[in-house]
Amino acid sequence: MILGLDFGGTKLAAGIVSADGRVVAARRCATPAGAAPASLQAMQQLARELIAEVGAIERIGVSFGGPVAADGRTVRLSMHVAGWEQAPLAEWLERAFDVPCALANDGDAAALAEHRFGAGRGVRHMLYLTLSTGIGGGVIIGGALHRGEHAWAGEVGHLVLQHDGPPCPCGRNGCLESLASGLSIAREARAAGAQGAYGSSVLDAHDPAALTAALVAQAAAAGDPRAQAVWSAAMRWIGIGIASAANLLNPGRVVLGGGLTRAGALLFTPVDAAARARALDPALQIVPAALGDDVGILGAAAVA
Ligand SMILES: [Zn+2]
Repeated sequence: MILGLDFGGTKLAAGIVSADGRVVAARRCATPAGAAPASLQAMQQLARELIAEVGAIERIGVSFGGPVAADGRTVRLSMHVAGWEQAPLAEWLERAFDVPCALANDGDAAALAEHRFGAGRGVRHMLYLTLSTGIGGGVIIGGALHRGEHAWAGEVGHLVLQHDGPPCPCGRNGCLESLASGLSIAREARAAGAQGAYGSSVLDAHDPAALTAALVAQAAAAGDPRAQAVWSAAMRWIGIGIASAANLLNPGRVVLGGGLTRAGALLFTPVDAAARARALDPALQIVPAALGDDVGILGAAAVA
């Protein structure tokens, strides 16, 4: 049995996973307010409860919501939780549970999980994108995770699509994430509202600070012109990003996961059209992720 730990910016999840990729038992909680030690303590508590319930574990895998160093043992930082800078997380967990531990960032872990157990089964080369508050990703080449020389590969959210574009959380400008993430869609909806673009909109009924990508998607689906304009611009950028990555990697499948994909055809139809118009390979396949909420735990187990 493998213990899979998923350290997210908003939630922590721990699960015991069997060798054939089944989540035998799982526990979840909100990421505690405060710095890294609070998260570590809460996660260890979840893990101890699981071990008490299910029994001994052989190894630990971690999916971490932030960059992980090339050694697969050290966290570089978290953009959401303070105090993770250069944290030797694998060593801490090995000391606490006395079994070997390996880490990967959440995009890489999810890519591994979808390739092994989900929507990427059967292809040699796969590109994975998480479309969520931010945009993450992972690249599978020849059946294995491609992390690059210094473990910075697969950052499809930071493909630079507009050199003078909006600021990105990474500190640069015009990355895909700055143009089409959940936060970017909410920002564009606020900006369009401030300008009164497309006249009155159902979005005007909401406090601008409380606008979310989900609200924009809902309004776009209902035919609201302002929401449709904001949503379709973001979908075009996602398609452009996928085509750019696909023209470099020629993946057998592009798998899309994350909260934004709950919009279903409202997302997949325009993204597919925008990508297909720019991709060299006419056989490009863009499909939804298959693992749902368990992807973090399964990804962590795949890393182990
Ligand atoms: Zn960026």
